[in-house]
Amino acid sequence: VPALVLDNIGALVTCDPTLGDGALGVVRDAALVIEDGRVAAIAQAGAPADERLDIGGRCALPGFVDSHTHLVFAGDRAEEFAARMAGAAYAAGGIRTTVAATNAASDSDLRALTAARRREGLRAGITHLEIKSGYALTVDGEARLCRLASELTDDVTFLGAHVVPTEYADRADDYVALVCDGMLTACRPHARWIDVFCERGAFDPDQSRAVLEAGRDAGLGLRIHAAQLEPGLGVQLAVELDAASVDHCTYLSDADVEALAGSRTVATFLPATDFATRQPYPDARRVIDAGGAVAVATNTNPGSSYTTSMSFCIALAVRDLRMTLEEAVLAATVGGALALRRSDVGRLAPGCRADVVVLDAPSPAHLAYRPGVPLIAATIAGGVLEHADPALIELG
Ligand SMILES: [Zn+2]
Repeated sequence: VPALVLDNIGALVTCDPTLGDGALGVVRDAALVIEDGRVAAIAQAGAPADERLDIGGRCALPGFVDSHTHLVFAGDRAEEFAARMAGAAYAAGGIRTTVAATNAASDSDLRALTAARRREGLRAGITHLEIKSGYALTVDGEARLCRLASELTDDVTFLGAHVVPTEYADRADDYVALVCDGMLTACRPHARWIDVFCERGAFDPDQSRAVLEAGRDAGLGLRIHAAQLEPGLGVQLAVELDAASVDHCTYLSDADVEALAGSRTVATFLPATDFATRQPYPDARRVIDAGGAVAVATNTNPGSSYTTSMSFCIALAVRDLRMTLEEAVLAATVGGALALRRSDVGRLAPGCRADVVVLDAPSPAHLAYRPGVPLIAATIAGGVLEHADPALIELG
């Protein structure tokens, strides 16, 4: 007998076109049968159940897969944001402010801060996420951040090469050598991925290549921050090394688009960052029309994107990155899964993790159509009801 049935789903968005109508694979008047934390079946509304969650004809879709966050940090940078809105330019060096606050925080304080942000993300419909280190920049500190991140996800990314710490200001290559050796060794047991910030003011393409190759040799998957502040060689480096994802992509050359289109590397857009740094928005259409894979992620961090709202990112992707509504929903679900090279999340197909968002809306179009409105009525992660608005959802 099924453990839980999500019933009376007006529109079940599976994000699997083989299961329903259109690109989003929509099934009308459906029930989702959940067993052992997985999707067991898609049925007609009214299917037999041990426990039933009646969502009253609302829309349900896969939980959002947030493939880019920096969730483990202390302090905030509201003053830097205010200065930027008053005309100051964004620079990568602000990361060092967060490094100082993070390194001063105890394990228990950092764990509590990160858990609170994780709960905030669950309320926003994020059921799976990647978490990066990168706010310690010492061997022990980066290992600590990776360990704390691993308490919340199996997609932990070692980002020792986030920025060159002040004490290495005149000898960045020495810091890169540390990242590739002792720091990598200390972080490796907690991490699945390695990442590098390939940008002026952070790491150049040669240094970025060294970091990624060291990570690959240690058995980690590859991700890269590139083309955030200006065009560069990072996108093509990502493709050459078969990185799972290249993130930001605010400035893409025609050669970058062509390289992405012929690769397995996902272009991950972080539009809340372009919003909060007053950067121009990238044109995701160029990548999609060329046949490249895309994702949208929050880039939750205190400097350039202090939001856990994937709904906001979807609205920006539609309004400013020129994605269609369907493309933006896919980018925030199955696209994020692809950027993490996993097939168990991002879709509501039999066998997938039972990660579901219930919208207080009849269709996912409302995510962009009603920007800023809290539409997440319930979040289910691994078959467990993690968040529910009691005024909307009745458990019976
Ligand atoms: Zn980032």
